[in-house]
Amino acid sequence: MKKINIILLGPPGAGKGTAAKQIAEKHSIPQISTGDIFREAVKKETELGKQVKAIMERGELVPDELTVSLVKERLAQPDTSNGYILDGFPRTVNQAEALSEFQEIKAVINFNLPEEEIIRRLSGRRVCKNCGAIYHITDFPPKKEGICDKCGGELYQRPDDKIESIKKRLEVYKEQTAPLIDYYRGKNLLYDINTTIEPKDITPEVSVKQIEEIFEKLGLT
Ligand code: AMP
Repeated sequence: MKKINIILLGPPGAGKGTAAKQIAEKHSIPQISTGDIFREAVKKETELGKQVKAIMERGELVPDELTVSLVKERLAQPDTSNGYILDGFPRTVNQAEALSEFQEIKAVINFNLPEEEIIRRLSGRRVCKNCGAIYHITDFPPKKEGICDKCGGELYQRPDDKIESIKKRLEVYKEQTAPLIDYYRGKNLLYDINTTIEPKDITPEVSVKQIEEIFEKLGLT
């Protein structure tokens, strides 16, 4: 079986996380989200968590060196032997260069979503404190306001989903992460999805379907 080493690239709020979860489950490979790893560290108040908490709340990027060493360690775990989905990493050309020194990437899936739609989705996002399930106040509301349907946990708004942080994250994306589109296109690894679909119709299912089609084309299934 071919190793599925895949990167999901795209602005915050484009649905990478939700799609990554579904693909990971289907192909029995891990979803590796640097954002989730950092959030977990903040929650547990570890040394790493203390280092990154304020940076994340401001919507800025954690330094490359720290992020790369964390990913390197994670990718050395045995559960990555059939591949992995990187969600939210790399976020700078520096990180991508570092990654290329120890991993061979098969494809980079580029998510597209206009800025107004990103802001609408992120500012309405609510997350379960207990199980991490994701809701949206109008698109996908819980049955009972503020309470998770799955586990009864309390829903909250991520501090970086407040409007000021969203704007900062979009600015950081444009300046530091979007250059990766040309970087990977130049290496013939880039696959664009959701380019011809109305923003409101871009659901995780639609993204997943397109990703599966790319996998088939690449002989990864
Ligand atoms: P995400 O959940 O992917 O939106 O990430 C949340 C936050 O974690 C980002 O706004 C950054 O502060 C930090 N972060 C996640 N991934 C990276 C990365 N690859 N490089 C630097 N910072 C990151």
